[in-house]
Amino acid sequence: MSFSRFALLAAFSLPVSGQAVTSTVTITHVRVIDGTGHAPLADRDVSFAQGRIVSIQPASAVKSPSGKVVDGTGKTLMPALINAHGHLALVNGAKNDGDYYTEPHVMDELRQYERYGVLHMLSLGLNRDLLYGIRAEQRAGKVDGAEVFTADRGIGVPDGMPPIAHEGDQLYQPKTAGEAREYVRAAAGRHADFVKVWVDDGYGTKPKMTPEIYGAVIDEAHKHHIKVAAHVFALADAKHLVADGVDVLAHSVRDAPIDNELIAAMKAHGTYYLPTLTVDSSFFWFVDHPEVLQEPFFTHAANPDLIAMLGSDAYRQKVKNDPQTAQHRKDFAMAVRNLRIAEDAGLKVGFGTDSGAMPTRVPGWAEHNELAMMVTAGLTPLQVIHCATEVDAQLLGIAATTGTIETGKYADLLLVEGDPSKNILDTQKIASIWHRGHPVEPATK
Ligand SMILES: [Zn+2]
Repeated sequence: MSFSRFALLAAFSLPVSGQAVTSTVTITHVRVIDGTGHAPLADRDVSFAQGRIVSIQPASAVKSPSGKVVDGTGKTLMPALINAHGHLALVNGAKNDGDYYTEPHVMDELRQYERYGVLHMLSLGLNRDLLYGIRAEQRAGKVDGAEVFTADRGIGVPDGMPPIAHEGDQLYQPKTAGEAREYVRAAAGRHADFVKVWVDDGYGTKPKMTPEIYGAVIDEAHKHHIKVAAHVFALADAKHLVADGVDVLAHSVRDAPIDNELIAAMKAHGTYYLPTLTVDSSFFWFVDHPEVLQEPFFTHAANPDLIAMLGSDAYRQKVKNDPQTAQHRKDFAMAVRNLRIAEDAGLKVGFGTDSGAMPTRVPGWAEHNELAMMVTAGLTPLQVIHCATEVDAQLLGIAATTGTIETGKYADLLLVEGDPSKNILDTQKIASIWHRGHPVEPATK
């Protein structure tokens, strides 16, 4: 393992030397969205040192800040984004590729998330065990790229979901509850952060995981104090999973409106809900919004092969003629409707995209587009930013150290032009990123 990142990262992990980390940085006269969902604070001076936020004060109260000064006039400081549903190294250019899951490709994608201001991500299944090595280095302080959490390989169904190309060491497909428990114990032995199950029959085309199997998975995972996230589509499955104690519904319910029975059960269990509007929209978004293919914020994230493919007549025709497209539009509409129901009901709505699972779910870009779609769905920008920061930090168990702008927390920060509380698209105008106080070059700067 001889990666140049170790050289780069030494400065990041050393406690005292390395001036970027240790000297005080103050962002002056900046608007602060703190991630809690509260109204923005106007005209603040925010200082951080040694990777942590040390003060947030009205600018008028600060005489002349010491250390490095960044003028925040006209800009907004917000917590960096957290993606609670992504995947790593499954997509090679314009195609899924089962052989692509290697350390350099994983690192490329973690760095891409980071350059888009997504500083934590949960890779929700289809991981190779090499991800634990990367996670161990990050947790030892050599933070490079988005900080990764892993759901290990994930637990699917023989001949069933997930339908994504992968190798045998990226997925378990138990035939019995006993096998399922054995696989959970293996993941627990590797110290998985989460366990993932897929509960979906692909519109009736595939065998679906039985309640016996996922019941065993949830029970065994909880014995090892590991949370379980479920890929879900149908309301009835969501109800059964929640009753069995699943911790996260990792997609929207899309076959029917969420009803009071599910709302009550999710509240009783404290279940998180990840809308992942990117999933359904990714099947038609670029045909409906071809202008995106010209925007630097997209082109810096997307592979040239993918951009060429998405801009081709063949792709447009394929999407238009695919009978599934109407189904995906219907699913998207139901996901939008259910997001409003979930938010209005006071459920714990988190934030995820499923970026990295398929070529059209582009890491980094997808997270900002998801924020915008959630606002179009009817949430306020402040609600949506709250989902993508504090709520996801709680979901990942890291809210004590990150996810909000508060004294003592890590300086995991985005400085953006304008005011995302008024126009959510302003999150795409990234001026600066700090990851634990360490500056990261934004993708489009
Ligand atoms: Zn996924």
